[in-house]
Amino acid sequence: MLKKYHIYRKYSDYLKEKYGEKVYKLPINLPVSCPNRDGVIGYGGCTFCGEEGTGFENLSNLITVSEQIKRNKKYIGEKYKAKKFIAYFQNFTNTYMSLSIFKTFIKEAIEEDIVQIAISTRPDCIRKEYLEFLNEIKSKYNIDILIELGLQTVNYHSLLKINRGHTLGEFIDAVLMIKKYNFEICIHLILNLPWDTYDDVIENAKILSALSIDQVKLHSLYIVNNTEMGNQFKNNEFDMISVEEYKNRVIAFLEHLDPNIIVQRLIGRAPKENTLFVNWNMSWWKIRDEIEEEMKKNNQYQGRLFNYLNGKAVKHFFND
Ligand code: SF4
Repeated sequence: MLKKYHIYRKYSDYLKEKYGEKVYKLPINLPVSCPNRDGVIGYGGCTFCGEEGTGFENLSNLITVSEQIKRNKKYIGEKYKAKKFIAYFQNFTNTYMSLSIFKTFIKEAIEEDIVQIAISTRPDCIRKEYLEFLNEIKSKYNIDILIELGLQTVNYHSLLKINRGHTLGEFIDAVLMIKKYNFEICIHLILNLPWDTYDDVIENAKILSALSIDQVKLHSLYIVNNTEMGNQFKNNEFDMISVEEYKNRVIAFLEHLDPNIIVQRLIGRAPKENTLFVNWNMSWWKIRDEIEEEMKKNNQYQGRLFNYLNGKAVKHFFND
């Protein structure tokens, strides 16, 4: 729950509350692709997606899972004096493989100081058999499971335009399936997608709240060269919103969001190479700090406008 003095429920606070100390993510890069790139669902992928998928800071996927964990643990463990870790299967679609291969990769990540396995995937790549297996891991090794779903927006018109290969329906289906296992769910959203409006951003907050999602990760769109969106950007086929509008959207999103939902980040980061647009040429942390300052100054906080569920229109009849 949001503490009184906090403007939003920060991920780092939540990890400390839950595990009693700082916990660090160890990114793992698997040799997988995405059904939206290889033709199973679509070709070319989402119009913004570059060759690396989403994990540009990862080790090579030719290195085994246990070796990636070992190297990252050595680096992160020494740098931050960390003792507990999250095995984070980050890149592309980490359930897009046969169940037996999936099991092998996941089992490699089971180590004494791994407190959580986080698996990043698409809403249309969730199957019961994979969730059953993860549930066995959870009970047998006492390791938490978190599923990260890329959604980007609840606006299904925009989802079609960016060639996601799924719409809102598949997302809701995936959430309902995962919820049966009580795994935590984290949703990725991009708040400055072209064609999305301020109202769409508020609807993002409402849908996530209505579905009792556990965590959310906000990204700002970055535009990569040699992608469909990169070409649209160069041809001025859409307008990019200003950084001020981005900040306003983040604040509106947070104010409408259930205060129980944990916020992993307010803005994304991107590699400079091959990137046509990222964060209005500002550092991500400066934009984050400015959002936080603005909220403090105006007495705004997560959940301030979270008043629309549980029969809002008939609430006044309660005192009959
Ligand atoms: S679902 Fe993810 S990995 Fe697949 S094309 Fe879209 S952004 Fe890229």
